[in-house]
Amino acid sequence: MTMDKKIAAQRAEFEACAKLATQWRRLEMTAVVDDDYPAVRADYERSLAAFMLAMHANGRVFIAEGPAPSFLAVLRAQNLSRVVRFGHGDIKAPHGWGPMQWGCALAGEVGELCNMLKKYQRQMPSDPTPDELHAEIGKEIADVFIYLDLLASTFDFDLARVIASKFNATSKKYGFPERL
Ligand SMILES: [Mg+2]
Repeated sequence: MTMDKKIAAQRAEFEACAKLATQWRRLEMTAVVDDDYPAVRADYERSLAAFMLAMHANGRVFIAEGPAPSFLAVLRAQNLSRVVRFGHGDIKAPHGWGPMQWGCALAGEVGELCNMLKKYQRQMPSDPTPDELHAEIGKEIADVFIYLDLLASTFDFDLARVIASKFNATSKKYGFPERL
């Protein structure tokens, strides 16, 4: 790379960094319950991706400490906010739903998922078509994950961290190189 190109790449990285800082400040000022939160969050994610690319152009890689908090952090915040809307009150309130209720709700969704898997396997004439079942299986997997997040929240578990920790421990135990 010529010196001119190196300077241009360095300048592009600084500019991407400045834009990222601006979007980060916007994100900090926006409550997750605000209508424009998803758009602000998307702007931040785009700025972060642009900054990572600019760093890469300068021969560096972006090293985040721990797993990226983006999607799972937003899911947790919105999940807890919606719980209140559904009338369950504060998730940690004594008379609200606790781990047992969320665990049962999770098991119910696993049951619904298994019912779809059963129909997908047996293909009886009275069952929905494979395409319909494929769509339903996706919805049930989503339900399972949403309730799993709520159950995890009652113990203050950060899903990304506990998953990474357990995944890495298993890889280490069996001598495999895969890590999160
Ligand atoms: Mg369901």
